Amino acid sequence: SVPLSFFGGIGGASRLGILVKGSNYLELLSNVDTVVFDKTGTLTSGTFKVVAVCPEEGIDKASLLDAAAHAEAFSDHPIAISIKEALATGIDQGRVRDVREESGHGVFAMVDGKGVLVGNDKLMSEHGIAWQESRQIGTILYVAIDGRYVGNIVIADTVKDDAEQTIRDLHAAGVKSCVMLTGDRRDVAEEVGAELGLDEVHAQLLPQDKVDEVERLLSLERDGAKLAFVGDGINDAPVLMRADVGIAMGAMGSDAAIEAADVVLMDDKPSNIARAMNVARRTMRIVW
Ligand code: ADP
Ligand code: MG
Repeated sequence: SVPLSFFGGIGGASRLGILVKGSNYLELLSNVDTVVFDKTGTLTSGTFKVVAVCPEEGIDKASLLDAAAHAEAFSDHPIAISIKEALATGIDQGRVRDVREESGHGVFAMVDGKGVLVGNDKLMSEHGIAWQESRQIGTILYVAIDGRYVGNIVIADTVKDDAEQTIRDLHAAGVKSCVMLTGDRRDVAEEVGAELGLDEVHAQLLPQDKVDEVERLLSLERDGAKLAFVGDGINDAPVLMRADVGIAMGAMGSDAAIEAADVVLMDDKPSNIARAMNVARRTMRIVW
């Protein structure tokens, strides 16, 4: 039978907005030595600001932004939400058809009858677009219309207020390694890694690469210690499921995440991860 205090632990956690799907996850969580984070929306706010709009010859800034924002009309990726908000004139969904979102790459959509691609270098090369690599530091969205490269949009995100303190707290609580995985560019990943004091960062990963990286970390000999993955659930459900403990942030965000996760944080503050580990450790001390 399950000791009563397990329920105390789960109940206590839920009062803090930390939903634990079973008592076994408290036990696993109390024994975590590696915490792997997704970047966008997890360690960073996911609220990107448009830093620069850089059109090629033959198109103006407003048209470039308009085409990109409309291609993102039906996406709820943090990048898509931000770029739609940057368009002062608002989005007319009636102009958009045949949307295809490619996880870790970007989107394709027909906008006003023209094929618009918005995404990273991988998306451009997969569609055979001759694009111009940007030298700016930041997250770069390349845009093509009807197969022709028309420019890029540079966007930037900021780290969450409590992210740096959380990494410090996790280290102080005995976590040996805090790792960040991201589909974003290496320069952005390294900047965030240095700012937060992360032990490892891995950039330019597709969703499947994130699963592979977690599997590599799981295969390291760690004396039975456990690995937690923390994500916002936007295209990281496979990793949430693969980790010993999958933690989804911002329960309002994504049903897929809530489904795939073992622990759900009702709000998206990284400090709740340290709090969840404390509850887990206290509960285990009472039980044994
Ligand atoms: P992260 O690993 O930081 O959470 P994702 O895996 O969600 O990021 O996305 C990785 C990269 O894929 C983004 O940095 C962006 O270049 C591209 N991307 C993903 N979704 C979109 C989208 N809807 N629009 C444009 N680009 C996108
Ligand atoms: Mg993500």
